[in-house]
Amino acid sequence: PVVLCWLRRDLRLHDHAALYHALRHARQHGARVQPLFIFDTDILQALPSRCDRRVDFIQQALCHLDGQLAAQGAGLRVCIGAPLAVFGQLLAEPAQVIAVFTSHDYEPAALARDLSVQRLLAGQGAAWHSVKDQVIFEKNEVLKDDGTPYTVFTPYSKKWRSRLSDFYLQSYPSEKYTAHLAARAEAGEGGIPTLADMGFQATGIRFAPPAVSPGLLRRYAEQRDIPGIEGTSRLGIHLRFGTGSVRALARQAQTLSDAFLNELIWRDFFQMLLWHYPHSVDQSFKPDYDAMAWRNVPEEFDRWKSGTTGYPLVDAGMRELHATGFMHNRVRMSTASFLCKHLLIDWRWGERYFAEQLLDYDQAANVGNWQWAAGSGADAAPYFRIFNPHLQAQKFDPEQRYIRQWVPEFGTPAYPPPMVEHALARQRCLAVYQQALKS
Ligand code: FAD
Repeated sequence: PVVLCWLRRDLRLHDHAALYHALRHARQHGARVQPLFIFDTDILQALPSRCDRRVDFIQQALCHLDGQLAAQGAGLRVCIGAPLAVFGQLLAEPAQVIAVFTSHDYEPAALARDLSVQRLLAGQGAAWHSVKDQVIFEKNEVLKDDGTPYTVFTPYSKKWRSRLSDFYLQSYPSEKYTAHLAARAEAGEGGIPTLADMGFQATGIRFAPPAVSPGLLRRYAEQRDIPGIEGTSRLGIHLRFGTGSVRALARQAQTLSDAFLNELIWRDFFQMLLWHYPHSVDQSFKPDYDAMAWRNVPEEFDRWKSGTTGYPLVDAGMRELHATGFMHNRVRMSTASFLCKHLLIDWRWGERYFAEQLLDYDQAANVGNWQWAAGSGADAAPYFRIFNPHLQAQKFDPEQRYIRQWVPEFGTPAYPPPMVEHALARQRCLAVYQQALKS
């Protein structure tokens, strides 16, 4: 008999909750564990380009994983298709699938997918076990005293910290039970599909296992807001695809940087919110904001995307995003605020564009942060906090290192004047928000 360990946002072998439980289950039931990854064609087909850094990253991460498994005489099985159809085929194979282990995914579309697979398995007598892996605290683990979810970060983070103990950060020693992995020959013929097999192209991204230096974490609090230096971990993509363990990272943060730990709490916060408030993926978290009269001018949206707004910090950020798939957090805040408040373009347009471009795109974090920028999100701050992009640049990029890197023509006649004057945009924004909240 076979126990499948379906990997999705947890592309690693160490400190792996689902794999650990799958291996122990196999040991108890005289079975063996086959790690499985499915390139979901529903997701691949929806991508706007065949040149996608995330697909490239995943493909390389899978090759890395398969190499690690090969060293233990095991192998990764990789299928291409819609998950429900793939499971239908796997269940029809001669080896009896007795259980599927996987890690929780809190996105509404993923929950629907998992439910359909769970039902299929139940119909065939196979068990479904989904476990927490990608966050420290999930769903209902950090609630207000009255049992309802927090909708404001600061009190949530206080409760989160008060609940934290070694128990929640301990590693799942999956490596102790690797004797119960299925033999490599059972992973099937064909190995890991190439990008070309899936109709995709190489993007130049290079996968390397995650690493963050203790020095960076110690300096994190002072340097994290300066986009001109590498002051943040750049681990977003590894946390997104689980090529690194969040528990291991939180243990490091506990001893080296409280400010960094705080960011991991933000991450849990948004995952928790998405699970409790799935409507927020495309509706205002605070319904009052659904009445916003967005201007939504397509030409202005194009200027924002191409980094030609005439606001150099905004333009630098948009160009960095397009060129690398990364944008510094401080600049994400400025570009998002500019789109929603200065141009009065619906936050959903920006959220969708970031979803296409960001290496570390994560629905919970992206939606949560975009709604925060638009003022409609889970936030105590009022909508009339409007970033001044010039002041942001003066404060966080005083020597213009970041701006000059991405906008070399800044300060020359080739650079356009601001597409909208700050004071005017601010007044216009306040009026539109006031009107929406009145109605
Ligand atoms: P570090 O500063 O080194 O932080 C470490 C980790 O903490 C990050 O990798 C991330 O997992 C987590 N984290 C940090 N800040 C936040 C935050 N505000 N919210 C949630 N998690 C956080 N983050 C994403 O992971 N995916 C997204 O799609 C995403 N979209 C964003 C959209 C907007 C408009 C804004 C303002 C922020 C967004 N963020 C998103 C949050 C943040 O900008 C990135 O996590 C961070 O810049 C990634 O770089 P890093 O790994 O060097 O972060």
